[in-house]
Amino acid sequence: MHTFEKIRAEHGSPFYIYDGKVISEQASILKTTFPDFGFLFSVKANPFMPVLQKMASLGIGADAASAKEVDLALEAGMPVENIYYSCPAPTKEDITHVLGKCHIIADSFHVLSLLEEAAAFRGLKLAVGLRIHPDFTMDGMPQMPSKFGIDECFVWETAFEKEYPHLTIDGLHVHIRSQVLDTEQLGRYYDNVMGLAVRLQKFLDTKLEYINFGGGVGKVYDAAKQSPLDYEKLRKAASSAKEKYANELSAKLLLESGRFLACDCGTYVTEIVDIKQSHDKTFYIVKNGANGFFKPVLRQILLPFHPDHIGASYEPFATENDSYEINVLSESSETEVVDIAGHLCSGADMMARDVTVKKGNIGNLVTFNHAGSYAYSLAPLFFASQPMPKQFFIDEK
Ligand SMILES: *Cc1c(COP(=O)(O)O)cnc(C)c1O
Repeated sequence: MHTFEKIRAEHGSPFYIYDGKVISEQASILKTTFPDFGFLFSVKANPFMPVLQKMASLGIGADAASAKEVDLALEAGMPVENIYYSCPAPTKEDITHVLGKCHIIADSFHVLSLLEEAAAFRGLKLAVGLRIHPDFTMDGMPQMPSKFGIDECFVWETAFEKEYPHLTIDGLHVHIRSQVLDTEQLGRYYDNVMGLAVRLQKFLDTKLEYINFGGGVGKVYDAAKQSPLDYEKLRKAASSAKEKYANELSAKLLLESGRFLACDCGTYVTEIVDIKQSHDKTFYIVKNGANGFFKPVLRQILLPFHPDHIGASYEPFATENDSYEINVLSESSETEVVDIAGHLCSGADMMARDVTVKKGNIGNLVTFNHAGSYAYSLAPLFFASQPMPKQFFIDEK
């Protein structure tokens, strides 16, 4: 019996299944492309414990976006020095919670004040990183306002030692775009971030311990329209940027990734619970559409506003068209054009429109690929109080 059928027989549907082997493969691409870098998994992409444990076993650390994600990373066995906490707006309680459990990156002057207060209260000299919103952009277009980080121009106006006497700045964090598939843009970006690190070191009269380049390494969702990055060219670009600044920078270099490491390891498996005809359409209604795998549904919701808005895919919440292969696991040799709708009491719960799939029957499983990142963690699982999908992890022994 097919693995998916076995799982359904034992546990029912719907469920996510993650394959550790794919994570290993993706991690080795990163390690080969960036031999001088360390890697942090963006926990928000997939906080399932076996996935985090797999990352830990590969020497990958954590990009934690909340205090809870710091705890999850520790629970997964990641060492404190490999956990970087970078939340846009942590509270005082969050800071108290994570102190001593990770590197802390400050996203604003208010966060620096909270950290200063926490360090002064404990009589500590606390090393913190700075997330900077740089003047440069990924694609060379003018920079835009951002809720993330401290604008570069404000950094040069700040007397850090005087204003934050209990803090030292030991790291730089920049993240301006995800899902970049342009090799040259990424190469230029690494060079730009290193240039910024050199300016920051000079300004602070210090040596940075780490430079966190954030995410950016993109993956292919739609093989018909996208090409993967040229990893060999990327390796050369990253290593020549490193060479260029070798005399000035001794910092640890870090890259963050959610989707590149985890997206392809996941499959979402649901099943047809009804088939309906309405006017000229055939609807396959499946268990847990939006409240299982939300991203395809979100794409349908955004479609009228962004018909081919590539930019939307930079966001964890959004994707381009045709990002998922959908398979109906039926015995039929015929195909059919259908709409796949979820079972929620909402007209917006549509997973796909006018897709050609194998002709299915009620009870057939339906699978979606690319479900290892921003999938379970992104879904509005509570809506309509339906049962939630389960999650399973398999790995080669
Ligand atoms: C979400 C996030 C990432 C991960 O982005 P991917 O596109 O999944 O690789 C990396 N860094 C930061 C700061 C993030 O917020």
